[in-house]
Amino acid sequence: MGSGTSNGVPVVGCDCPVCASVDQRDKRMRSSLYIKGDKGERIVVDTGPEFRLQALRAGIKYLDMVLLTHSHADHLHGLDDLRQLSRIKPVQVYGNERSINDIRERFAYIWRKTQKGGGKPKIDLHTVDEAFSFENLVVTPVPVKHGNMDVLGWKVRENRGAVCVEAAYITDCSFISDESLVLLKNISCLVLGALRMRRHETHFSFDEALETVKRIAAPALKHVFFTHIADEHFYAEINEYCSGWLEKNDMRQMTIQSAYDGLEINI
Ligand SMILES: [Zn+2]
Ligand SMILES: [Zn+2]
Repeated sequence: MGSGTSNGVPVVGCDCPVCASVDQRDKRMRSSLYIKGDKGERIVVDTGPEFRLQALRAGIKYLDMVLLTHSHADHLHGLDDLRQLSRIKPVQVYGNERSINDIRERFAYIWRKTQKGGGKPKIDLHTVDEAFSFENLVVTPVPVKHGNMDVLGWKVRENRGAVCVEAAYITDCSFISDESLVLLKNISCLVLGALRMRRHETHFSFDEALETVKRIAAPALKHVFFTHIADEHFYAEINEYCSGWLEKNDMRQMTIQSAYDGLEINI
């Protein structure tokens, strides 16, 4: 639902060529993902500041759960807009301990008795550190590092009779341990945070993200999409760079592309 870094693109007050681009795929709201399972499961990963706009654009009518990667503002502060989606039943919110604690602190009004009636989202909070099942899906938290902060990627497996498919979403990441890499061995699709060409302390650069794809070395991995992208590169330019890299590394069995807002992937 969004593919941009914490500022969003265009960046407020910025006149750079990417911020001025007329290509809609260079307009990047804050990073977010909407998952629709075959059995009607509806999941959002991260509720950033544009969550309301993103939910309208994606036509979200109901929601079972929100998976949080971490509690930075660009991933969490649209949480209040779960109000309309939690009128019938509470939305289940999953995250690591820090994310869940930060929700209790920043959204303390949700649990205050003083406000009557609607006006507040109904959410149930869950701290998770291992896989859990929901309907036809198995949801697995994938611990990764965002600088020195512990954050989560998420893997979702869908059981389809004899076969199952796995896909993962890892944004805001600068390091993945070997233990977490093992969790990604069977994915066929990956959405991966890749900020820009230049290095950054707490995010993968394009080259670091590409090397990570190589490290994951999942035989079934067919499609990789970069997300959480800064205003330093055009959509088309990123795709060109990635296909050149794939060619150089003899990895033409897969595609690596820039995500863009509104992109839909069938897995
Ligand atoms: Zn972020
Ligand atoms: Zn972050």
